[in-house]
Amino acid sequence: TGCSSRNSNDSGSDSGSGSGDAAKGGFAADSLIGVSLPTKTSENWVLAGDLFTNGLKEAGFKSDVQYATGGVSEQQSQISAMVTKGAKVIVIGAIDAAQLATQVEAAKQAGATVIAYDRLLKNTNAVDYYVAYDNFKVGQLQGEALLKGMKAKKPTGPYTIELFAGSPDDNNSGVFFNGAMDVLKPEIDKGNVVVGSGQTDVKQVSTQSWKAENAQQRMDSLMTSTYSSGAKTLDGVLSPNDTLARAIITSVKGAGKPVPVVTGQDSEVESVKSIMAGEQYSTINKDTRNLVKQTIQMVKDLQAGKKAEVNDEKSYNNGVKVVPSYLLPPVIVTKENAAQSYANDPKLAPLTK
Ligand code: BGC
Repeated sequence: TGCSSRNSNDSGSDSGSGSGDAAKGGFAADSLIGVSLPTKTSENWVLAGDLFTNGLKEAGFKSDVQYATGGVSEQQSQISAMVTKGAKVIVIGAIDAAQLATQVEAAKQAGATVIAYDRLLKNTNAVDYYVAYDNFKVGQLQGEALLKGMKAKKPTGPYTIELFAGSPDDNNSGVFFNGAMDVLKPEIDKGNVVVGSGQTDVKQVSTQSWKAENAQQRMDSLMTSTYSSGAKTLDGVLSPNDTLARAIITSVKGAGKPVPVVTGQDSEVESVKSIMAGEQYSTINKDTRNLVKQTIQMVKDLQAGKKAEVNDEKSYNNGVKVVPSYLLPPVIVTKENAAQSYANDPKLAPLTK
């Protein structure tokens, strides 16, 4: 476990060059900063766009904030355009971690600094920094919450569960899954937790493009194949995020079965409501405001000719190098601590009253 499990496909060696080449010697205070975000697959991405636009403006920079709603090739051309326009820093939340090497290498050649935002960029030397909530920790928290939630409902096992993972092109998906399995696997090995369908491989359980309908479809077929006779009762579902959690709950209800313990992530409005109503069990608080603030701080440091501050130089190997990272701590949220967790979030706090 530990370091290598943070890499979703463990192909890398530890031969990374570290952060030695990250400092750039500063640039004009009103320079252009490019921000390339993926498809709006959850509320956090929608929020990030606005926060970057406003925050970069406030800090005195020009900004070009784009979403690649059309997919990978759109994101590739957006990044190339940012390079052409002379962006000094390019912040990237990749749709597909492995498909941007050519573009980020061109960015680097042009003298820009590349920051991977939320999702790591794989198999390229041209990524200078990574800024994210600790995704492996997110997975561990989800695994722990699943066990705790099931235990609260039914004091002794064995517990029957199903596993879901995110989109295979997003590097985070494997990291979340590895984190969760770090906690669940020992219980599965002991026989205390049983995956009802037997589907435990990340490839079998992934959800293409993080689409709710894909998760709902898979859950529908699991309900038919594994839970329709009533011989097995589904106690819990590992869901990597809130969008998929709600789709899974919809499916179970549609099959006329009681709602199991379902995990989530992102603190989406509808999921916080569901948690308060006693349906979805947990989510993760990864306050987007803090992540964007941290990223803009990195940009400011680079502008001043300093290296950006990092707090982790060992965990995120992208297959070619260990990317110097600034990791923020994710927080697990259930009904019990929701009010406290969202106390200073004007959007979510009222939902917990
Ligand atoms: C983010 C999650 C999000 C998912 C789908 C991931 O890369 O880290 O917060 O739920 O993408 O949008």
